[in-house]
Amino acid sequence: MRIAILGDIHANLEALQAVGREIESAGIDHVYTIGDIVGYNACPSKCVNIVRGWVQGAVAGNHDWGLTGRLDLNLFSPTAAEALEWSEMNTASEEVAYLEDLPVRAVFDGVTLVHSMPAQPEEFPYVFAGHDMTGQFEAVSTPVTFVGHTHHPTVFHEDGNHEEIIEGTFELPGPDKYIVNVGSVGQPRDGDPRATYAVWESDSRRLEIHRVRYDIKLAVMRIAQTGLPGSFGDRLRVGR
Ligand code: ZN
Repeated sequence: MRIAILGDIHANLEALQAVGREIESAGIDHVYTIGDIVGYNACPSKCVNIVRGWVQGAVAGNHDWGLTGRLDLNLFSPTAAEALEWSEMNTASEEVAYLEDLPVRAVFDGVTLVHSMPAQPEEFPYVFAGHDMTGQFEAVSTPVTFVGHTHHPTVFHEDGNHEEIIEGTFELPGPDKYIVNVGSVGQPRDGDPRATYAVWESDSRRLEIHRVRYDIKLAVMRIAQTGLPGSFGDRLRVGR
């Protein structure tokens, strides 16, 4: 089984389409997302619709629940909250309902999906490489868990080691457990502005982190046209 996992799409249509084109020719059986389909960028409605019709499973990110009101906007930065208010006004009611019904944690094809961390799925803590992972591996029964939220692709091993990744292929030998941050499709923050997604090959326990060039200029232009904060466009250009 070969599955693709998309993280933190954040309403970036150009990045999502570029990743979609690559996945179409990559021999993928199932596609999943670990949430934050909306927020920051200019195309929440289109991105929700693409995801809804495409993926075999999804979990909610904090921005998805922020848009629907399930999470208080006071928990977000002022500009992120402003973008969510704008996104809610520019998203159809059935799209909002889709986001509202997403679970916060799920198991598909033998892997766990959760936006932030498995032990506190509804609190959305930001866990970077080197942070305390106490209780996280005990909270899952599957050998591999896919997460997002920090937008930094990283492999966490249950022995306490971790590795930040830009791109490449990695063996994750069993029976050990791993938590893999798949990085961000729509707002990379590791200094590489290319869209990021992961592929997991369960038989060989091989993880691929892919980077994809996309039309950043067009994504930035769309943000300017909506009147959303220009800082969101600046972030796309530099990958921060
Ligand atoms: Zn995010």
